[in-house]
Amino acid sequence: MLKKIDRGQLFLKDHLNLFRCPKCQQKMISASNYQLSCEQGHHYDLSKKGTLHFLDHHVKTDYDKEMLSHRQKMIQAGLYGPLLAKLETILAEDQISTIVDMGCGEGSFLNELASLMVPGTKIGFDISKDGVALATEQRGEAFWCVADITNLPFNDDSLSHLLNIFSPSHYREFRRVLKDGGKLIKIVPEANYLLELRQAFYADDVAKQSYSNEKVVRKFSEEMTLISEERLTYTFDVSEKLQEDLVKMSPLQWGASAESLQKTESQLIEKITIDLLILVGSK
Ligand SMILES: [Zn+2]
Repeated sequence: MLKKIDRGQLFLKDHLNLFRCPKCQQKMISASNYQLSCEQGHHYDLSKKGTLHFLDHHVKTDYDKEMLSHRQKMIQAGLYGPLLAKLETILAEDQISTIVDMGCGEGSFLNELASLMVPGTKIGFDISKDGVALATEQRGEAFWCVADITNLPFNDDSLSHLLNIFSPSHYREFRRVLKDGGKLIKIVPEANYLLELRQAFYADDVAKQSYSNEKVVRKFSEEMTLISEERLTYTFDVSEKLQEDLVKMSPLQWGASAESLQKTESQLIEKITIDLLILVGSK
């Protein structure tokens, strides 16, 4: 079996035309000696795990390894099963060349789609190095990199499908890299997303118990041609084993007081509401 770094190099050789240099915006011309190189002589080294780091500085994000691993466990336990099934249906209508997860976190969504046999070349990137490191630990054939959403390392008109799941958007870059006829699929929370957690964390602050995606949805339809929007709501049974993962999987915990955090950890949340909006657009 090939080592991860050799698999990474093979992938880059086969898909050189998808990438461009984020420093000078010129073409990548070679992938050899475990380096991706551009016309102007900028080099990006493959890591032992077969990942690429496109940033020339380290970005500190609040999405640390601990939170990302709790999140990964929840996703692997099936928290987003109905969402993944929906994505599979949406994608089944299309000719897919390349799917890129724009803000992949710890990579579970892309890996789950790969295990559902969704076709196409798969690339995930995130600004969080920890996220990308966790992504490489899962099975699945996706290529992973650390990159900046405001300066994508991909060529113009090179990607058929962009996923943007609970992640910020940068529409100018999305339109640049998306092929004509390609799709952007964006998942945003709806009002009752993780309701039971919000109620536990913010028992004294009713305003924080609900979420409005109005601005995000409006921005999406201003920037893209809206093809469809669909709300998906369901509840997921949370076993006792998953309680800690649930409490620590999201940034919601940061807004909670120490007291309510402690209280939440000592009580059992048996069901959690997942309430989402699936936006599909083209450029
Ligand atoms: Zn360059």
